[in-house]
Amino acid sequence: MTQVQDMKLDGNAIAGLLREIFAVEMTTARGTCASCGAVNEVGRVEVYIHAPGTVVRCPDCEQVLMRVVHGRGRYWVDMTGVRCLEFAES
Ligand SMILES: [Zn+2]
Repeated sequence: MTQVQDMKLDGNAIAGLLREIFAVEMTTARGTCASCGAVNEVGRVEVYIHAPGTVVRCPDCEQVLMRVVHGRGRYWVDMTGVRCLEFAES
C-alpha cells in the first residue's frame, strides 16, 4: 500500500521561496490591516522610526501593522497587524 505523507522540514527549506518573495518591489505591495480591514499600499502607511526599531501604523485606524528591529547584525520583523500582504511578481 502506498501512502502519501507530508515531509516535515526545517525553515531552511523555504529560504529560496522567501528570498523570491521579499526581493520584489515592496512599496507597491498592499497590506490588509488585521484590525480594521483597510487595504493600503506599503508606500502609504505611517512609519515611526524610533531607535532601535521602526513601527508601521495603519493610516485608517492607527493600529500597529508591523514592527521591525535591526541590531547586532539581525532583523526582527513582527507582522502581527497585517492580515494579508499582496504584491505583483517581479
Ligand atoms: Zn487599520
